[in-house]
Amino acid sequence: MIEVESKIAGSLYGELVGDALGCPVEGWSSQEIQAAYGRITEMIEPQERWRPLGLHSDDGQQMLALASALLTDPLHPEEPFAQTLVRMYQIKLSKESFGLHRGTGRNFRATVQGLAKEGSSVWGAAQPSSGNGTAIMIAPLGWYFYKDLELLQNRVIQVARVKQCDVRGIAGAGSIAYLVAYAMTHETWEHLDHQGFVDFIKALENKAAEQLVHAQQLRDTTQMHTFSLGLAYMLDHLKFRRGQVLQDIVNLANQTADFRIRNPCKGYVLASVITSIYITLTNTAFENALLEMLQLGGDSDSTCAMAGAMAGALYGKDQIPARWYDSLVAKDCFDSWIHPLSQCLYPWKPDVSLETLETEWTKLSLCGPAKKTN
Ligand SMILES: [Mg+2]
Repeated sequence: MIEVESKIAGSLYGELVGDALGCPVEGWSSQEIQAAYGRITEMIEPQERWRPLGLHSDDGQQMLALASALLTDPLHPEEPFAQTLVRMYQIKLSKESFGLHRGTGRNFRATVQGLAKEGSSVWGAAQPSSGNGTAIMIAPLGWYFYKDLELLQNRVIQVARVKQCDVRGIAGAGSIAYLVAYAMTHETWEHLDHQGFVDFIKALENKAAEQLVHAQQLRDTTQMHTFSLGLAYMLDHLKFRRGQVLQDIVNLANQTADFRIRNPCKGYVLASVITSIYITLTNTAFENALLEMLQLGGDSDSTCAMAGAMAGALYGKDQIPARWYDSLVAKDCFDSWIHPLSQCLYPWKPDVSLETLETEWTKLSLCGPAKKTN
């Protein structure tokens, strides 16, 4: 039996591994990856937006910020989570960097800048974004609340609303949290109750919409059950031919997205989140799931981070290939967090803070490849 601590460590480091693996080819098509690298099996140093080999980006950083928030206040993790994002933004290392945050997108920057304003409320800076921005960081809630799904549902909404006020985005986060929670007590996906999973997401969509209406943040009620419908479709076709399922995900995403989608791993939540779930559920080992995910390109740091978080929780830390784990810049750095997370201890503080670690890592990434040796 895989111990809970190994599952939490597998999910935490699995996400960092996936993020670092995906970074070098973020935004590429699968054809471009094939032409440049053939099949990628090793960590590659990102060249276009240079970063040291094995360093995670904003996806992993936010997942860690959420894990640290749970160790501070598991009843209201959204508060310390938002505060950590702001503190990391306010540490200025250079003109080009967004504080300590690496590889951020427009919506994330708008949220953090909004949160940093005096008198801002924790949910007041959420963006009407249908991206995967909360799904990529939500895994720690699955480690923490896997024994109580109703609590999990409530915490997902509390935390996701810091960044997103679109029901699709919040539902996407709920689906990753649900599967991480499932993985905490299982070693294969075989017995996953598809209907129970979809019902959980539908109920979460209802609850999230209710709260957003109350906060006058819900702009589009027609998108209410869009995510759960897409999820249900994919789960019903899990055993169909892979190329067909991926094409169906693209077609379905195009029916509700505001922009044209060609890659099943595009950042839109109905593409990237549903595809990362599909790839994770239809592989039977951590390495295979990540390799297949990586080769599809698209929002690859995020899709590989999500797949790594889910597969890592299912298979435990020992299944992360040593050649990937050993390349992580953050290798072993969060070992001391695992026990308090598994025991739900709080408030708990690590000897070295997340900000201290991230300051060093962002400095490294600002050095640039030319100055990194000798
Ligand atoms: Mg990223």
